[in-house]
Amino acid sequence: MTDFIQQRQQILTQITAVCTQAGRAPDAVQLLAVSKTQPAESIRQLFATGQSAFGENYLQEALAKQAELADLPIEWHFIGQIQRNKTRDLAAHFAWVHGVDRLVLAERLSNQRAPEQPALNICLQVNIDDEDSKAGCTPAELPELVAAISRLPQLRLRGLMVIPAKQNTDAFIETARLFAETRAMHAQPDDWDTLSMGMSADLAEAIMAGATIVRVGTALFGARQPVRH
Ligand SMILES: *Cc1c(COP(=O)(O)O)cnc(C)c1O
Repeated sequence: MTDFIQQRQQILTQITAVCTQAGRAPDAVQLLAVSKTQPAESIRQLFATGQSAFGENYLQEALAKQAELADLPIEWHFIGQIQRNKTRDLAAHFAWVHGVDRLVLAERLSNQRAPEQPALNICLQVNIDDEDSKAGCTPAELPELVAAISRLPQLRLRGLMVIPAKQNTDAFIETARLFAETRAMHAQPDDWDTLSMGMSADLAEAIMAGATIVRVGTALFGARQPVRH
């Protein structure tokens, strides 16, 4: 068996164990396989073992792999930084976009999502530990953004996404608190069901705090090859 197939089983076992420890349902957390820099063939092999959701960071790389894997019903998530002039491709080729942090990006995605496609699932990225270098809205901007974005027709605003600094696991608890607090602003509160948080190094802490999607790359595939974009 290829390593990443075994790794996936171990990660799924860990996710279930932490859910039990946290008093959550064993299937409360979805594993998003972060496949940036990994070849399409690895995605194909993982898909064959039951992994259907994949996360990509770089648009051109993702589009090339999507073309190679067009025969598979993969659920593609875009988890990279969103450039304003790339929203048309994001709206056309992904099921989820996790890094929305401004109203103008959400408006473009909604306008550019074809009416015959299902609504595009959105997570709002919050810069939860206020790092200058990072994308994301401030916690103070959240209520207005949730109110506005949840009213856009071609989007489903699902929840929050964070990338806290290493070791800052309090940030997960704070994100869960903001998530609960902001529900009241949502036009369709039943859609508000997602906390996209936790990566290879901190997925257990994120699940303990309420994550519903963990985004895992290196723990699954091993170290990434450096690639220029
Ligand atoms: C690369 C990446 C991940 C996966 O990180 P690992 O530490 O390799 O698990 C998760 N989320 C985002 C936004 C990423 O860019």
